[in-house]
Amino acid sequence: MKKQKTKTTKAASKTAKKSKSTGAARKTKGTAARAAVPRSSGTNPQRVRAILQKLDEAYPDVNCALVHENAFQLLIATILSAQCTDERVNKVTKTLFAKYRTPQDFAYANPAELEQDIRPTGFFRNKTKSILGASKKIVEAFGGEVPRTMEQLLTLPGVARKTANVVLGTAFGIASGVVVDTHVTRLSERLDISRETEAKKIEQDLIRVIPQNKWILFSHQLIWHGRKVCQARKPRCAECNLESLCYAKDKTV
Ligand code: SF4
Repeated sequence: MKKQKTKTTKAASKTAKKSKSTGAARKTKGTAARAAVPRSSGTNPQRVRAILQKLDEAYPDVNCALVHENAFQLLIATILSAQCTDERVNKVTKTLFAKYRTPQDFAYANPAELEQDIRPTGFFRNKTKSILGASKKIVEAFGGEVPRTMEQLLTLPGVARKTANVVLGTAFGIASGVVVDTHVTRLSERLDISRETEAKKIEQDLIRVIPQNKWILFSHQLIWHGRKVCQARKPRCAECNLESLCYAKDKTV
């Protein structure tokens, strides 16, 4: 990392000497050059279009698998889904949402009791803190309504971009970004759409190449494909309709 930084600095200083441009001009030039560098060779627009078309063929109308009746329930279910399967979350929320019916019920719940109620989803102490904190903020700062902007959602305890994107996209139909969960991370790499490893950077790469009107559906499609076909340990490549476009190292055909 350090080496790369030194190299970049040397190169920038050489360029500066040659062109005798101002510091501000150099900065602008550098930013433009960085933006033009492709992050992955798999992001050729024609290839990306073909991937999107094949995903549309396989998953024309998929949606979020977390059972919910409103944006608030989806928020709670998404917090619970960290490191847990959607099936297990759905089992837990079936009784949870019958017991706690409103944001107020969650906000002022007994923490020890809530911990036990959500225990099967794992990491129940942290999840309880997030649920109590987010619910309190919704009740006390947002009049009991789940906010509809990324900026506001990110002020809720325990809510990061992934959860915010799920809520905005699925509950409100607002395409504010792409949900990057474990499936989207793995498939973005295998399909060579991003070579980043951090969720934030992967999302930036995806946003750059996927048209905004596809962001919501694309997230759901990758998640379903990751669950059903492109599974982590043993991808079922023989059954995959993206196979002809895929050159992942761990392909099984
Ligand atoms: S061909 Fe295999 S590795 Fe590539 S996307 Fe399909 S299932 Fe995943």
